[in-house]
Amino acid sequence: MVGEEPRAPYDRVHLSELFAGKSATDLEMLPRPWYAENGVELVTGERVVSIDTEAMEATTDAGRKLSADRIVLATGSAPFVPPLPGIDKPGFFVYRTVEDVEKIRSWGSSCKQGIVIGGGLLGLEAAKALVDLGVEATVVEFAPRLMARQLDEVGSKLLLKSIQALGVKVILDARSQAIVGEGKVEGLQMADGTVVPAGMVVASAGIRPRDEVARASGIQVGERGAIDVDDNMRTSVPGIWAIGECALHKGMVHGLVAPGYRMAEAAAHDIVGSSQPFPGFVAATKLKLMGVDVASIGDVNAAGDDFDDLVVKAPCAGIYQRVVWRISDRKLQGAVLVGDLEPFGELSALLTSGEPVPVDPRALLAPPREEGAGADPIVCNCENVRRSKIIQAIDAGATDLAAVKKATKACIGLRKLRAGCDRSHQEADGRARDPGRSLALRPFFPLARRTVRSGLEGEDPGLRDLDGAPWQRRPGLRGLQAGGGEHLREPLERACDFRRA
Ligand SMILES: Cc1cc2nc3c(=O)[nH]c(=O)nc-3n(C[C@H](O)[C@H](O)[C@H](O)COP(=O)(O)OP(=O)(O)OC[C@H]3O[C@@H](n4cnc5c(N)ncnc54)[C@H](O)[C@@H]3O)c2cc1C
Repeated sequence: MVGEEPRAPYDRVHLSELFAGKSATDLEMLPRPWYAENGVELVTGERVVSIDTEAMEATTDAGRKLSADRIVLATGSAPFVPPLPGIDKPGFFVYRTVEDVEKIRSWGSSCKQGIVIGGGLLGLEAAKALVDLGVEATVVEFAPRLMARQLDEVGSKLLLKSIQALGVKVILDARSQAIVGEGKVEGLQMADGTVVPAGMVVASAGIRPRDEVARASGIQVGERGAIDVDDNMRTSVPGIWAIGECALHKGMVHGLVAPGYRMAEAAAHDIVGSSQPFPGFVAATKLKLMGVDVASIGDVNAAGDDFDDLVVKAPCAGIYQRVVWRISDRKLQGAVLVGDLEPFGELSALLTSGEPVPVDPRALLAPPREEGAGADPIVCNCENVRRSKIIQAIDAGATDLAAVKKATKACIGLRKLRAGCDRSHQEADGRARDPGRSLALRPFFPLARRTVRSGLEGEDPGLRDLDGAPWQRRPGLRGLQAGGGEHLREPLERACDFRRA
């Protein structure tokens, strides 16, 4: 395995957690010794520059030659850098790697204002990173709304309001013209001549698949880039596969991690001679954008006479849910969820299965009901983690969210864990032999945010912490952290978010 970055593979999706105190080692996908122990030679800090497809030999920029029977290209993407005058000035950054985070952090520590170019998923992640650094952030977006592909108009507006409430400025319909400044970044000049002052600019205006090795090696790439693959992830050259963000499957490049994992499975099956073709990917994404939970499923902008929709709106609680289906065959077309993602699993399963929406579609947005004994819903979509796997993790001794996540690789928060596992918690709790363990679990699962909030406000909801002490004895979030109530930090923070929303 050859990677050009100077470290072992890490979880890029959670890169922003480096700004919140995690270390690069915390994000590693596998501990470094794992590779040697499992017969994988890991070469880091070297870039493959070409592949001799006849001899099946790859050459790195350090002159190393590696031969193989099979080669998988998983070269990902590079950030798109808008061709603006001034991008060479100190204070201009992209946001993709641990090294980018280190540069942004070191520059941001002496910077008051920052601009992010791009109001998509990564742009909002970058803006959140600036906020975490204490830098006043302005997001500059070319389109008339945020996340136009993933959210409909109302959802975008709600997201905009929530983000503005966090103190982030957003300029929509904005055309950047040049990065200005004497010797370093001092602002961004817009097409109308105005200059938005800033000591740093982070470009997050899209990604470009990294197909340069494929091009240099005569492997077929699409007209607009990315490596052409079939359903088994085979490229045009026998013995060479491509997966992830560098792959072009049926005209689509998928810029998310979940389809990348499915592609990896398809390639692995093909390589060992079994078959599990990549079925394509229905865009169903859950994101946490600056603390706001957002989900986008299918075509969220489907509209017209042939479509019907169901909308739930509670702006004061930061909640918006819309489900759209085709009237003629009652097939789900898309859904947007903001603030409350509880129906995500059911809606994405419905979109994938193509089954008709229920006669009373309100059932789709209703709170989850107790399911039959055989039901084993997917709790985390990225990693296909089912409820049963989480139960196993709890049974094996995982006593808090971090432990459950570590054991299952599920990318979930408390809300999802609670929604997916209320029953599993009760089952595990009932079976628990160790009373400490069940106590430790208790704070996480059954608490409604309302309950936590009332706890914060000093009422006594009968809540007990790990030591069995009543909630009201604790003097709020700060005191809790200082007092070692680390296990309650996340529910409290969520409650605070809720209050802000
Ligand atoms: C800040 C951030 C937040 C994100 N959040 C989400 C999210 O919430 N949900 C989601 O689904 N996705 C998210 N993504 C996208 C997700 O990270 C990508 O979809 C995923 O990492 C793609 O995996 P990959 O293996 O295809 O490519 P990459 O993760 O880019 O890995 C490719 C690796 O190959 C290396 N490489 C490239 N060319 C060569 C070469 N010639 N020789 C050697 N090495 C090479 C690169 O340096 C890189 O290390 C986020 C991305 C970022 C940056």
